[in-house]
Amino acid sequence: MAEIDHQWNPSGSTRLAAVIGSPVRHSRSPALANAAFRAAGLDWAMVAFEVPDGGAEGAVAAVRALHLGGLMVTMPHKAAVIPALDSLTPAAQALGAVNSISWVGGTLVGHNTDGEGLVRSLRHDSEVDVARRRCVVLGAGGAARSVVHALVVAGASEVVVVNRTPDKAAVAAALGGAAGRVGQVDDIVQADIVINATSVGMGAPAGASGPLPCPADSLRRGQIVVDLVYQPIVTPLLAAAAACGAQPVDGIGMLVHQAAISLERWTGELPELAVMHRAARAG
Ligand code: NAP
Repeated sequence: MAEIDHQWNPSGSTRLAAVIGSPVRHSRSPALANAAFRAAGLDWAMVAFEVPDGGAEGAVAAVRALHLGGLMVTMPHKAAVIPALDSLTPAAQALGAVNSISWVGGTLVGHNTDGEGLVRSLRHDSEVDVARRRCVVLGAGGAARSVVHALVVAGASEVVVVNRTPDKAAVAAALGGAAGRVGQVDDIVQADIVINATSVGMGAPAGASGPLPCPADSLRRGQIVVDLVYQPIVTPLLAAAAACGAQPVDGIGMLVHQAAISLERWTGELPELAVMHRAARAG
């Protein structure tokens, strides 16, 4: 059961932000955002609204009517909110998907912060710059596509997409332009950075042996192995990476940074990342 904060006192001037999705009860966004608002002494609060499929445009109309401070968007609304917005960032435009909405001069702008969140997390939390690195992305869903786009924007020399369904791999690789291509399992061992953007490993017992998104012998010493899956935090892939001498990077950093980008746009202040990390790991 969620912990109730008896010290939270919303006032007549509290700015409200929200996350919409279905299901949305499991979302960690309110916990991360509210921890950051409290730490910064900001009179802001974030709540989650369960919005069923088909309700995206109505939810954006509510943002305008209630002048909400910002909106995060999760499944199944990431594409459906787009017609209701005034403009999109280049990443959101390229991906056809929005996970965050903010006000700019009285207009609503749609962003896609997932991939940028991963790039920032690697830079700030793990001191890894993706520029000129060879990357393999496992998976070709929404998170994978955002990651491919962001890696190329950040200067990765090559982004190879390896996915169970080849047609989807081609769509994701195309987002990488000249640096993107579809690859096979054999490509993984060559990569400097391997990123799991499939859902394989989600819900596995923490740190235990379990299903892997690629063969364990395609990982090697010196590689950076990132798992976007963050439940559990130490996935079977990260355990396998550590066992062979690769550097494991968990998905909490991306979760924190993609949210921090939204909070900064909404409030004009860079949130305290350490506070958000603690809130994310406590969830
Ligand atoms: P999605 O759109 O549903 O895509 C899922 C991907 O996983 C597809 O490429 C799918 O392959 C692949 N896949 C699923 N089951 C598989 C299996 N058994 N074997 C091989 N491939 C399999 O999901 P998403 O939104 O991209 O999210 C993917 C993961 O990233 C989720 O676990 C999500 O929680 C995580 N995520 C984390 C963050 C973060 O901040 N850390 C942010 C976003 C997402 P096919 O194309 O062949 O179906």
